[in-house]
Amino acid sequence: MKKYHIAVLPGDGIGPEIMDEAKKVLGVVAKRADVQFEMEEGLIGGSAYDRYGTPLPEAVMKMAAASDAVLLGAVGGPKWEPLDYSLRPERGLLGLRSGLGLYANLRPVVVFEDLIDASPLKPEVIRGIDLLIVRELLGDAYFGKPRGVRVENGQRIGINTMVYTEAEIRRIVKTAFELARGRRKKLLSVDKANVLEVTELWRDVATETGRDYPDVELQHMYVDNCAMQLIRNPGQFDVIVTTNMFGDILSDEASMLTGSLGMLPSASRGEKTAMYEPSHGSAPDIAGKGIANPLATILSAAMMLRHSFGLPEEASVVENAVRMVLKAGFRTVDIRQEGATIVGTKAMGDLVAEKVGALMA
Ligand code: NAD
Repeated sequence: MKKYHIAVLPGDGIGPEIMDEAKKVLGVVAKRADVQFEMEEGLIGGSAYDRYGTPLPEAVMKMAAASDAVLLGAVGGPKWEPLDYSLRPERGLLGLRSGLGLYANLRPVVVFEDLIDASPLKPEVIRGIDLLIVRELLGDAYFGKPRGVRVENGQRIGINTMVYTEAEIRRIVKTAFELARGRRKKLLSVDKANVLEVTELWRDVATETGRDYPDVELQHMYVDNCAMQLIRNPGQFDVIVTTNMFGDILSDEASMLTGSLGMLPSASRGEKTAMYEPSHGSAPDIAGKGIANPLATILSAAMMLRHSFGLPEEASVVENAVRMVLKAGFRTVDIRQEGATIVGTKAMGDLVAEKVGALMA
């Protein structure tokens, strides 16, 4: 029997609630398939700060690095906002990403037929959307130096540095080309090469890398145009690769095409251990109410089965179970629709787990 070691980091806010449901679904998969999941839990973010005085305890970093995959809930909340920047929950997550060398963030955006009405866009615009945003995760203004706020000539000045090396661009663009190869073979590289030299380099390196992938059609687009096209005609996109900051913004925009952040999984990959987490945050406004949508976390677990454990059939079973529960008319409040049956976090997890069990029986 194959055994996989999963570092489970529920985090803050709704994190622990949605994680319970993903664990429940994985439990059913393990019972029915010939696999064993060893899940080890750790604290990260605000909850880790409260207990250990740091948002990323060393033991958690070690556990994550030694695992076969990391499954994370979400971090952050107003309680920790007054803390020094270095102690904030989000720094824990950034530290984990860089500690694991996770340079590629993959966000699939798929519209579920039964949720088409939950999108603010017209059905004819979003029907059939199936795109993948590949965001660079370890460079750009998020890590570049110099950074900070200082006083100069009697006034405060804030600085962040947008920086990319050729090697950093090449490895993320390569990842995107490989992913496009397994899909519809269309790659869009997004930059702002008309005003930012760093992305002029991005464009050049993307074009050079493309010579090794003659079977994949490469296009370039400025980020402002891409933001507009995502709303105007999202169906035109297959794989989009872009910088850390542009990817941060475009992927949240793309997520709303589906109607709710609560539906979107993500994967972050590097050389070794990958991490899987929902695209949304810790939703402090609804934490503890038992109404959070656990589907993004459950779908992230499905991505983990496919990409880290080589279990594509089991991953498809989980995704199909989600589709069937939606088809049967069950909704959490964030994706509520007229005539649907509203259920809480736990009931939604139970429904998916039950369907997974039935599909694997
Ligand atoms: P958020 O994603 O937490 O919430 C935005 C809105 O979407 C809220 O109204 C929330 O209730 C709703 N929402 C999010 N996930 C939901 C779910 N699963 N089910 C139902 N509704 C859901 O973003 P925010 O409010 O900007 O940030 C809250 C905190 O989360 C902040 O501290 C922020 O720094 C942190 N954050 C963490 C991550 C992460 O851990 N990866 C990502 C983004 C934000």
